[in-house]
Amino acid sequence: MAEVLTQAAPAPQPLVAFTEDEVLFRDNVRQFAEQSIRPKVKEMDEKGVFDHGIIEQFFQLGLMGIEIPEQYGGAGGRFFESILAVEEVSRVDPSAGVVVDAQNTLVNNALLRWTTEEQKRRYLPKMASNTVGAYALSEAASGSDAFALQTRAELKGSEYVLNGRKMWITNGKEAGVFIMLATVDPSAGYKGITAFIVEKNFPGFSVGKKEDKLGIRASSTCELIMEDCRVPKENVLGEVGKGYKIAIETLNEGRIGIGAQMVGLARGAWEYAAKYAQERKQFGRSIGEFQGVQFQIAQMATEIEAARLMVYNAARMKDAGMNFVKEAAMTKLFASQVAERVASLSLEIYGGYGFTKDYPVEKYYRDAKIGKIYEGTSNMQLQTIAKLVMGGK
Ligand SMILES: Cc1cc2nc3c(=O)[nH]c(=O)nc-3n(C[C@H](O)[C@H](O)[C@H](O)COP(=O)(O)OP(=O)(O)OC[C@H]3O[C@@H](n4cnc5c(N)ncnc54)[C@H](O)[C@@H]3O)c2cc1C
Repeated sequence: MAEVLTQAAPAPQPLVAFTEDEVLFRDNVRQFAEQSIRPKVKEMDEKGVFDHGIIEQFFQLGLMGIEIPEQYGGAGGRFFESILAVEEVSRVDPSAGVVVDAQNTLVNNALLRWTTEEQKRRYLPKMASNTVGAYALSEAASGSDAFALQTRAELKGSEYVLNGRKMWITNGKEAGVFIMLATVDPSAGYKGITAFIVEKNFPGFSVGKKEDKLGIRASSTCELIMEDCRVPKENVLGEVGKGYKIAIETLNEGRIGIGAQMVGLARGAWEYAAKYAQERKQFGRSIGEFQGVQFQIAQMATEIEAARLMVYNAARMKDAGMNFVKEAAMTKLFASQVAERVASLSLEIYGGYGFTKDYPVEKYYRDAKIGKIYEGTSNMQLQTIAKLVMGGK
């Protein structure tokens, strides 16, 4: 009888196992963040202005078009690499992290998924090489209830004419291309919502007030004003009336990005606290020798690890083509809670010094707060999770 050769299937890899390319990529981003971003973090935060040179370097390093295919000038990477980039940059500066995050996980993601071939040829090479993007959904009166938006789009001949104001738009100051959500028919409710690709130099478009914020101060957050803004018909993204689907699905991926930003932030704060605990002496020894402080460091490390695994799992699920909506919401919810706790405790480990601007931990604490607010507040994540888990998913 012929011998049956059984071959064991390869064992599934742990979530922290990376490919060689991923390790190389992560290490390059880490080194760049240390060398080129770290020295500028404090000044950018104080001035509330993002250093343009860093944006140029992001483009040179391929960090603004990570998933854009090489044929359009991008790096041809996977979503997981976008997540690694956001995590590593945010470890040094969460403001810089959100620049990379919004570009890759919101704007490029929407463009890659919903553009026609002609639009791809027109926009993807720009996004990969020199144009910052922004994603414009929120308005003054519509945040969590995003589809109550009022920005109006009316078809007049070969153009749509847009009127309205957007609020809170990340990268608003630097962006050249905007994914703009407007309604073509307010009476149709969410079914009137349509996505447009709007360029900064389109007639009738302008950038308004820039917010003065508690945290991620270097990342610009701006109002956008459209007064009879003329957008060519060919710039509809996806189908007319399907903007709500584009908005929801783009944000699902974006939330994993915010999870990565929060994990990077928590790691950054924790590293400072762990180091300071070795250096600071009280009662004749380093505070890190006290079990009370050791346990705080250990608890934080454990929570960061849990949040990180959730981020990696959600990202790998996305790359594997699985449904990741629940995991993305859980990831953002949990990672933002961890970031806030870790940044707060790291500040306490610095004692009074932590409360001053002479040390970097107070900035992480301020930056952490946004994780619970943008791309859907924590309550909105809980609503999504509750709907899915209670519906048996
Ligand atoms: C720094 C920053 C950057 C941002 N970047 C962008 C961007 O690039 N693009 C963009 O489109 N938007 C952006 N936003 C907007 C952001 O997404 C909204 O602020 C967020 O969705 C919350 O909306 P809101 O501020 O109107 O709060 P509201 O919706 O008014 O919520 C206020 C409170 O009520 C709670 N709440 C509301 N409804 C419910 C409910 N049904 N059940 C339980 N609780 C509820 C919320 O959880 C929250 O605690 C940004 C915001 C900030 C601050």
